[in-house]
Parts: sequence; C-alpha cells; structure tokens
Amino acid sequence: MALITDESIERVRQAADIVEVISAHTDLRRQGAQMMGLCPFHEERSPSFSVDPARKVYHCFGCGVGGDVIRFVREKDGLDFPSAVELLAERYGVELEREQEDPRAEERRKRRTRMGELLTRTSAYYASYLWSSDEARKAREYLLERGLREEVLKEFEVGYAPSAWDSVLKRGQMAGF
Ligand code: ZN
Repeated sequence: MALITDESIERVRQAADIVEVISAHTDLRRQGAQMMGLCPFHEERSPSFSVDPARKVYHCFGCGVGGDVIRFVREKDGLDFPSAVELLAERYGVELEREQEDPRAEERRKRRTRMGELLTRTSAYYASYLWSSDEARKAREYLLERGLREEVLKEFEVGYAPSAWDSVLKRGQMAGF
C-alpha cells in the first residue's frame, strides 16, 4: 500500500476532534484553555492529564505520555501509524491521498522481496540438507553430541551447505528461479 501523503496526514490531524477522541477514554473538564482529566495511560486519583484543544495535543504530567490525536489512537488502540490515520480519516470524513510510487522504486522493492524469498528458500534447503544428506551425517552427529536438541536446531534452521557449490543453483533452477 502506497504511503499516505503528508498533506493528508495533516488534514486528518486538523479534522479530528482530539477532545472527542480522548473523551471516549476519560472525562475531561475545562480548566482555563486546557481540558484536564484522569490519565487513560496510568492509574491516578487526581487529574494530571491535559489536552490542549487549540494546539490539538495531549500531555500527562504524571507519566509523561503526550502527542497528537494520531499518537493517542496508536497508543490507546494499539494501531500502527497508517491504521490510526485511516481510522481517524474514516471517522472525520477525510479523503486520503497516497504517494504515487516511482516505478523504479517499485521495481527495487519487488526485487528485494524476491531476494528475501530466495534467501528463505535457500536456508530451508540447507536446513533440510543437514537432516537428510549422507554428506552432512558427521555435522549432524557433532551437533547432537554437543547436546543440541534436534527440534531446537530445526527451529533455528541450522543448516549444512553442500560441498558442491552449484547445488543450490541447480535446486533454484528446479524451483523456478
Ligand atoms: Zn499518565
């Protein structure tokens, strides 16, 4: 999914009513220019959590949390940044624009993904080679004699590289690389 533009993020920040969002989690009372309430992030008996409706930020003098409305949603709902922005955009009717990805950047990203898949398959191949080949019998025995358990070795994909340098390549060709 392409990146949400900075401009869209700013529009969400402006459109979202930070007092309304936070009021769902704690009662806020006006105190001068600020709204104060019990902090929704830590246990307390007297309010040290303040929201500044004009600057659209919150801060807790007790536990030190603070930020804007997007940060609040991320922390309170356990969302990543784009999901928090999407949730607020939906709620406050902001249409999100996304960056057009440069085709070359997209190509690089795809290539990285392919390399990652290739490495995963290669390490899986080495791992299965350790357990199945005659050539790796000595390595297998050595590891087990050292007290390493087979399931642990398998979990961490400990592998054995075959002595023929091109065996992965041949195998890769068979797998369609
Ligand atoms: Zn707090």
